[in-house]
Amino acid sequence: MARYIFIAGGVMSGIGKGATISSIGRILKSKGFKVAPIKIDPYINVDAGTMNPIEHGEVFVTDDGTEGDQDLGNYERFLGEELNSDNYMTTGRIYQAVIERERNLEYDGKCVEVVPHIPREVISRIKRLEKKTKADFCLIEIGGTVGEYQNILFLEAARMLRLERPRDVVFILVSYLPIPKMIGEMKTKPTQYAVRSLNASGIQPDIIIARASAPLDKIRKEKISVFCNVAEDSIISAPDVKSIYEIPVNFEKDNLGNQILKKFGLQSKQNDLEDWRRLVKKINHLKKEVKIGIVGKYFKTGNFTLMDSYISVIEAIKHASYDLSLEPKIVWLSAQDYEKNPSKLKVLNDFDGIIVPGGFGSRGVEGKIKAIKYCREHQIPFLGLCLGMQLAVIEFARHVAHLKKANSTEFSNKCQAPVIDLMEEQKKNLKANKYGGTMRLGAYPCQLHPSSLARKLYKESLVSERHRHRYELNNKFRSLLEEKGMLMAGLNPEQDLVEIIEVPAHPFFLAVQFHPEFKSKPLEPHPLFRAFIKTSAKKKH
Ligand code: GLN
Repeated sequence: MARYIFIAGGVMSGIGKGATISSIGRILKSKGFKVAPIKIDPYINVDAGTMNPIEHGEVFVTDDGTEGDQDLGNYERFLGEELNSDNYMTTGRIYQAVIERERNLEYDGKCVEVVPHIPREVISRIKRLEKKTKADFCLIEIGGTVGEYQNILFLEAARMLRLERPRDVVFILVSYLPIPKMIGEMKTKPTQYAVRSLNASGIQPDIIIARASAPLDKIRKEKISVFCNVAEDSIISAPDVKSIYEIPVNFEKDNLGNQILKKFGLQSKQNDLEDWRRLVKKINHLKKEVKIGIVGKYFKTGNFTLMDSYISVIEAIKHASYDLSLEPKIVWLSAQDYEKNPSKLKVLNDFDGIIVPGGFGSRGVEGKIKAIKYCREHQIPFLGLCLGMQLAVIEFARHVAHLKKANSTEFSNKCQAPVIDLMEEQKKNLKANKYGGTMRLGAYPCQLHPSSLARKLYKESLVSERHRHRYELNNKFRSLLEEKGMLMAGLNPEQDLVEIIEVPAHPFFLAVQFHPEFKSKPLEPHPLFRAFIKTSAKKKH
C-alpha cells in the first residue's frame, strides 16, 4: 500500500510548491521508490483549458489530452515520466463526479453533503491513482494557499486520510519568509499564522520547507520550531537558487529524503542523483550566452511581467541550452509593438533566435507575422509553435506566394485565402458553443518527410507529439505553398494534416503545429529545441 505526502503552501502563492514536490519526487525516485504525483487545482473549472493563461499560467497538455495545471509540466520534467488525467483534479471535476453519481442513485438515497462526500471523492481518486500506478508514494499538491476558503475541502481530505491511515500520511507546509527591505530581517510571523490556519483545519505539519530569498538561520529555525510545533531538523531551508533543477540536490544536503522516510518509519536509503548533480554542475559552469526573443502577448499583468504563460517553452530553451553549455538569455518581445511601430523590428537583429509560441485570438497577430517575415528575410533562426506555425504559413502565403489576402479564419471569418482554417470536426463544437476540452488535444503521430531537417533531427521517421488547437493548414493551399519553396516536413498519417513546415533555404526556419515544449526534459532536451538553439548560437552579428 502506498504512503501519502500532502503539500500545501503558506503565506502566498507562487513560492514553488510544484518545484518542491517535483524535487521530493525526484529524490524518492532516486532512492528506488515509485512515486505518483497529483495536482489539485481548487477551481470550479473542470480543467485548466478554459482559464486565461495570464491569470492561471500555462495550460499543460499530457499525452491523453488532459489540459492541466503547469505544475504537471514540472512533475514530468523532474520525474522524467509521462502523466495523464489521473494526475490532476479540480474542484469542478470532483463536484461534477459527485453530482453525476447522485443523479445515478449511487448514494443509496442518502443526503449527499459537502462533507464527507466531497473529500471522500478526493480520497478515492488518490487511491485510484495509487492502485493504477502501484506507487510507493502518492505526492499530493494542494493548490492555493492555506487560510483561503477554496482549498479547505482538500485539507479536509488530507485530515480524513490521516485519520484512516495515521502512519501513512506526512504533511509538508511550504511557507514563505519575507525579508522586508525596510526591516532587513527575515520574518517568521506569516509562517506562524499559516501553521495556525492549518491547525484550525485539524492538520499539524510534519515538515516545514522555508522558502525565502536567503537561507534560514539558527535563530529563525528555533523560533519556527517552537511556535509551529515542528522539530528543528524537520524545518528545511529553501533559499532562492539559480535554477530550479538545483532544488533536489539542495534538499539532499539537508537529508530531506531520509527525513521523510523516517517520518513514515522507513529505513534511510542512499540516493542516486548522479545524473542530476552532473546537470546542476553544468548549469553552474555555462560558457557562452545565447539570446532568444519570444514574440508573444501573454506576459503583462498590470505593471508586472510574468513568464508563467510560456513556462514549458522557457524550460525547453533552458534544457537545450544547458545541454550545449550555453547560458540562455530570454527576452520578451511584445508583438503589438511591431504593429504600431514596424521600425522596431530591427531589434530582432540583436537576437540569436526568435520563437513565436502558441496563442489564441487576433490580438498581436499582425505584429507576430511582421516579426516572422523579418526573421525569414534576415536569416534569423526561427522556431514557430502551434499558432507560430499558422502565422508562418500566413506570412509565407502573403509574401512569397503573393496571396495578399491570406489569413486564418480564426482572425478573419470570411477571408479570401483561408490558408489556415478550422478543422472539420471543430466546426460543430464552435457552433454548439462547446469550448471546454474539445480542441484537438494530446498525442498524435507525425510522419516525417525523408529529406526534411526534422527527420534528421528526430533521427526517426515517425514521432508522437502533443497538440492543443482547432485550426489547421488548409490542404487546398498545400501545393501552391510547396511550389513556392515551403516543405511540408511532417504530416499526420491518418488525417493528412500538416504538422511541420520548413523553409529549407534558410539557416533555421521550422514551425510545428504541435507543442514540442511539453516533451522536453532537463536530462533529455527536445531535438527541435536543441537544434534551434545550436543554430542560434552560431548566428553572426
Ligand atoms: N489559436 C490556434 C488554434 O486554435 C493556435 C492554438 C495554439 O497556439 N495552441 O488552432
